[in-house]
Amino acid sequence: YAGKRRNAGVAVYRPSDDQHSPDRLSLMGELRQAVERDELTLYYQPKVDLTTGRVSYVEALVRWIHPVRGMVPPDQFIPFAEQTGYIKVLSRWVIDKALAQCAAWRAAGIELDVSINVSARDLINADLPHTFAVLLDKHRVQPEWIWVEITESALMDDPVHAMQTLDALYAMGLRLSIDDFGTGYSSLAHLKKMSVHEIKIDKSFVIGMTEDSDDETIVRSTIALGHNLGLRVAAEGVETQLVLDRLRTLDCDLAQGYFLSRPLAPDGLKAWLDTWHADWASPPQRVFSA
Ligand code: C2E
Ligand code: MG
Ligand code: MG
Ligand code: MG
Repeated sequence: YAGKRRNAGVAVYRPSDDQHSPDRLSLMGELRQAVERDELTLYYQPKVDLTTGRVSYVEALVRWIHPVRGMVPPDQFIPFAEQTGYIKVLSRWVIDKALAQCAAWRAAGIELDVSINVSARDLINADLPHTFAVLLDKHRVQPEWIWVEITESALMDDPVHAMQTLDALYAMGLRLSIDDFGTGYSSLAHLKKMSVHEIKIDKSFVIGMTEDSDDETIVRSTIALGHNLGLRVAAEGVETQLVLDRLRTLDCDLAQGYFLSRPLAPDGLKAWLDTWHADWASPPQRVFSA
């Protein structure tokens, strides 16, 4: 395939590389069968509390392991799923799987919270709170163990219905986080009205913040804004020690990024956590040089 790339030994297929290929159509057809053929899987990426060094929670990130195409990243099929309405089935699968994993970890004495990404289409779907309620009950998972990540742009598509869904999720006791903060157009008036627990600064501002003073200004101001509104502030896209140290200096609450860990399959995450916790006293020294 023209659109196939090598990434750490795994072929990564990017249909956007061949825009005019009939592959885009067939991909949509195949996506419908991905759930029943058991081709989807969840990876988990830890997020670290910058004060204690503890792993606060892990974010579930969906992967499609296509038998022929290889690993298809979510930004290559989530948009299809949204366009075709298949996102409803996909999201239910993701929530079911992530809650089952959370319950399994808890049963094994691993007290991890799990965050789940939901899309714009999910947010205007009045069934979403019910889906969560049914699956929380099925897996005997406490709502406060589960974080729901919503992007700013998803909120702005249909703010009235999105807000109703968010209020219902909040009332159930789920934790809410605004993902990719700073890239959408959410007005501060909306932010003020919304019941959320956390904002996650988009990685586009974080990755180069130690080299670009505008990025650093944006990150610093967002942290202040979040704290002034009583929210936790997380940063995604932490790729270097330097950025991690700067975020700590700026009083950011949580960090997530390749410097700490890439998204991992559950086995890999377990191994990563074992190492992390093994030198429990030293992780702040080990990863935080400041
Ligand atoms: P997101 O929720 O903002 O997730 C963060 C993305 O940044 C992930 O890409 C993650 O692998 C990547 N990332 C993490 N740390 C770093 C870093 O240090 N540097 C860089 N450059 N990237 C980093 P991924 O897994 O490809 O997911 C892309 C997007 O797809 C997600 O963005 C989310 O919007 C969406 N997505 C993923 N899983 C799901 C899902 O289960 N449901 C829905 N609706 N959307 C999902
Ligand atoms: Mg996310
Ligand atoms: Mg994000
Ligand atoms: Mg993002």
